[in-house]
Amino acid sequence: MKVRVRSAPSPTGIPHIGNTWTALINFVFARKNKGKFILRLEDTDRERLVPESVDKIFESLKWLGLNYDEGPDVGGPFAPYTQSERLDIYKKYAEGLLDKGIAYQEDGAIRFKTNKDGQTFWTDLIGNREIKFPNNTQEDFVLIKSDGYPTYNFANVIDDHLMEISHVIRGNEFISSTPKHLMLYLALGWQPPQFAHLPVLVGADRAKLSKRHGAKSALEFKADGFLPEAIINFLALLGWSHPEQKDIFDLNELIQLFDLKNINNASPYFDVPKLEWINGEYIRKSQNSKRQRKI
Ligand code: GLU
Repeated sequence: MKVRVRSAPSPTGIPHIGNTWTALINFVFARKNKGKFILRLEDTDRERLVPESVDKIFESLKWLGLNYDEGPDVGGPFAPYTQSERLDIYKKYAEGLLDKGIAYQEDGAIRFKTNKDGQTFWTDLIGNREIKFPNNTQEDFVLIKSDGYPTYNFANVIDDHLMEISHVIRGNEFISSTPKHLMLYLALGWQPPQFAHLPVLVGADRAKLSKRHGAKSALEFKADGFLPEAIINFLALLGWSHPEQKDIFDLNELIQLFDLKNINNASPYFDVPKLEWINGEYIRKSQNSKRQRKI
């Protein structure tokens, strides 16, 4: 099977470090499996859109060396990779579902009629766990909003299929959306990708990671003098550990050793002092090599 994975951020602000962690895992998984890493901009929520954040997404990935093979400013066989430029595509598939009677119009929006019988389940690659939802928990949901833009649920499925995504690796907060996605795959007659839902990052108090825990975006860490290698090394140690328990290793070593199966399902602790220590190690290394070059 061809491995194709994607990072699919919504440009609604400076990219959160949790999204950067997810992007890293996708990147490493692609490189490990000689696959492709794709960037797709999910900019269909026009109310939450922050146009400047598009450049921040590019800048952050570039600074960290997470180079994508296909994406909005790179191109690729399935371009465009920005959802607001793909509206005709979503419209066409929504009309197909209307014709089949699986979707209906309401208040200017197009809604998907969910099947309320039985259950929807999948085996998640993180922790190899079976996740199940009774179908009667899934209300009919909107595919195309009255402003003509698709919802996240709809555009995400259409694009993952058309862009031939083999593995969807994303945060746990999307688990509750996955049954809707699987219902859409079924209705469209498409084979779903495999799913891997990563645990949420937490602070020292085990609460969902936020600014008050000292977490910043990768670009804010950059502005504070952190080195990209240190950020990568630190993010790699979230939910994963080096088989020899090494703390310091580079991206190439990570790619060689990485296996999605070894990602722990428990919420990783974002340990800011550890990040500072790792950064110190990289700064010392770069100063030593500069010194050696002078001798
Ligand atoms: N646009 C979603 C986000 O902002 C993508 C979620 C997914 O990967 O399916 O994270």
